[in-house]
Amino acid sequence: MTETAFKALVLRQDDEGKTQAAIEQLGQQDLPDEPVLVKVDYSSLNYKDGMAVTGTGKIVLKWPMVPGIDLVGTVVDGGDSDYQAGDKVVLTGWSVGEKYWGGYAQYQRVRPEWLVPLPAGITELQSMAIGTAGLTAMLCVMALEDGGVTPDSGTVVVSGAAGGVGSVAVALLAKLGYKVAAITGRESTHDYLKSLGASELLSREEMGARSRPLEKSRWAGAIDTVGGDMLGRLLAECDYSGTVAACGLAGDFKLPTTVMPFILRNVRLQGVDSVMCPAARRVEAWKRLAEDLPQSLLDSINQVVALEQVPEQAAAIMAGQVQGRVVVDLQA
Ligand code: NDP
Repeated sequence: MTETAFKALVLRQDDEGKTQAAIEQLGQQDLPDEPVLVKVDYSSLNYKDGMAVTGTGKIVLKWPMVPGIDLVGTVVDGGDSDYQAGDKVVLTGWSVGEKYWGGYAQYQRVRPEWLVPLPAGITELQSMAIGTAGLTAMLCVMALEDGGVTPDSGTVVVSGAAGGVGSVAVALLAKLGYKVAAITGRESTHDYLKSLGASELLSREEMGARSRPLEKSRWAGAIDTVGGDMLGRLLAECDYSGTVAACGLAGDFKLPTTVMPFILRNVRLQGVDSVMCPAARRVEAWKRLAEDLPQSLLDSINQVVALEQVPEQAAAIMAGQVQGRVVVDLQA
């Protein structure tokens, strides 16, 4: 099986520096020189993958690149590592799909330290319905917990709620007993967000408008995937000793704010990064995802596409048109 050619989505830069994405047939000799050979069963589509495939921003650091920041699959050859042939493994982050070849290939070679065993109680498909977006959502929830935000503290608000990180964050918070307010720019997603557990729906337009340094406090905590004026407003509206977990820039990478929320309301702004997140925290987050994310909700959050559909799905995620999570079936 591993002797034969297999397919991969390969990104190349043309003479004008534009990104070109095409399905190519590769052989084992084309794969990077990394110790663990994995047969990839599924990958997923994150905002960052959308940026890489469409050539938006500077995501790809080496050319040619096989993108795909997430993968799940079966170890074919563990090299000198502790992994054995047949082990099911998950990979998210570590600059895979940016600097190192990633999940949009039927086979990939990776480093053992990038892998975690597929958590008990989660199927391969579900692990990619979670993916980097879901892991990030869990890390954001853990950041709120670290800040002392509990279901009794008050309402937690999630921005970019119908996107990948936002959907999982809403579902997780609701399952954990939090009252959840969801901010979305798409009215068409209101029923979906209610089905995930949101009890209050707010418009992106209203919440994305520039705020004063302090507004009437209304949130015990916030998970922000948008950045810019949205994040500035969430800080200005945060309760005394509340925590805002910031993980994204879907709206803007800038942060227009003042010191007021910090020095007058004791607000904590906690950054969340999933890419270089230490292994122990990752394993804990995956365990929590297996325990705390309702499987029925997880199944309703994702759609499965073939590798050939990734370029069109990448354009859709960049246009803010994707709802929930997109799983890529590498064996389809
Ligand atoms: P998605 O595209 O799935 O979700 C982003 C959501 O943000 C959209 O669905 C939309 O939600 C909202 N949105 C889109 N454009 C705008 C805009 N111009 N202004 C305001 N809101 C907008 O992406 P992901 O969920 O995969 O990622 C979300 C963000 O988190 C990205 O910036 C990504 O780079 C970042 N991220 C960071 C990680 C980390 O480790 N720190 C890991 C994973 C993601 P709606 O329609 O509901 O308004």
